[in-house]
Amino acid sequence: MSLGVAARTMRRVLVPASVDHAPPPLGGRVHAFSGRTMGTSWSVRLVASARLPRHHVLPAIQGALDEVVDQMSTWEAGADLRRFNRAAPATWQALPDSFFEVLACARDVAEQSAGAFDPTAGALVDAWGFGPAAPRGAPDDAVVLRALAQAGWRRLELDTARRAAHQPGGLALDLSAIAKGFGVDLVARRLDALGIESHLVEIGGELRGSGVKPDGQPWWVQLEHPDQAADEPETLLALHGLSVATSGDYRRWFEHDGTRVSHTIDPRDGLPIRHGLASVTVLHPQCMLADAWSTALNVLGPVDGPALANRLGLAARFIVRDGLHFEERRSAAFEKLLH
Ligand code: AMP
Ligand code: MG
Repeated sequence: MSLGVAARTMRRVLVPASVDHAPPPLGGRVHAFSGRTMGTSWSVRLVASARLPRHHVLPAIQGALDEVVDQMSTWEAGADLRRFNRAAPATWQALPDSFFEVLACARDVAEQSAGAFDPTAGALVDAWGFGPAAPRGAPDDAVVLRALAQAGWRRLELDTARRAAHQPGGLALDLSAIAKGFGVDLVARRLDALGIESHLVEIGGELRGSGVKPDGQPWWVQLEHPDQAADEPETLLALHGLSVATSGDYRRWFEHDGTRVSHTIDPRDGLPIRHGLASVTVLHPQCMLADAWSTALNVLGPVDGPALANRLGLAARFIVRDGLHFEERRSAAFEKLLH
């Protein structure tokens, strides 16, 4: 297939090999949908005939988004996640399917990242004022120590057969670093079920693309750079059977004693990450895993992050803040996609 965009612009492009085997375009046109969810915006572009019944498609999208919020939001008092966090000590809690699927995946990433990613970091997130409980500000050491004692992915026991999780007492789940990505996957799944195979789904900057557009081109997206004014070549990515997610301190943070306090917490010491990473972008077929790993690698930092990405074969791009400048590091799997 011809990659006209790349040839025209002389930018760096990332193209998964699957593009070479893409079926020819089927015709139809691009339909766009958008709205708000999970404290951010969402958008969907899909290819269908001009007579697509929008009243069938929108409820399918909205249903998937609402399902994630109703089950996994830390902000909705009625969410299943909040129910788990409030549950009595030493009780097993049956979880709805999607919640269990995300929690099991989060636990795996916690294990593989040796706790850099931790779905039980809810009390720490609250302590630093990034959860629903408290306003922003640096907490006392005692508050952090208490929250640290409350957290710990090893305390999270799951029963796969019964789709249940054990509440040992005071364990506070926070799935904000993975649920948006899962939401993207779930919307994509629902569109597939409607027979809509070509789509680009986005929630708060996390994206997943499948199929090609009516002109035969894959869904091209531009990877954002923390410094909009940077003299960097733009990086274009063909999202063909691929997702992309970014975790970065340039989106949500506050200043304390002249330093940036990131909303990403290192659960191993209970403190916000403070190394020089501005952002980590991960490409993966599943957006849930792109989302979780971008956070995990962001916590691991500019040295351990690329090392683990290479060991696990993850396609990741690290933007390291160096004074006023930025330096880019790429894992081997990311490098392989660069043309
Ligand atoms: P993201 O933007 O995907 O990196 O997710 C950041 C959000 O995940 C934060 O706002 C917290 O709610 C939560 N969080 C912070 N630190 C961690 C961590 N180390 N592991 C898992 N979730 C975290
Ligand atoms: Mg994430």
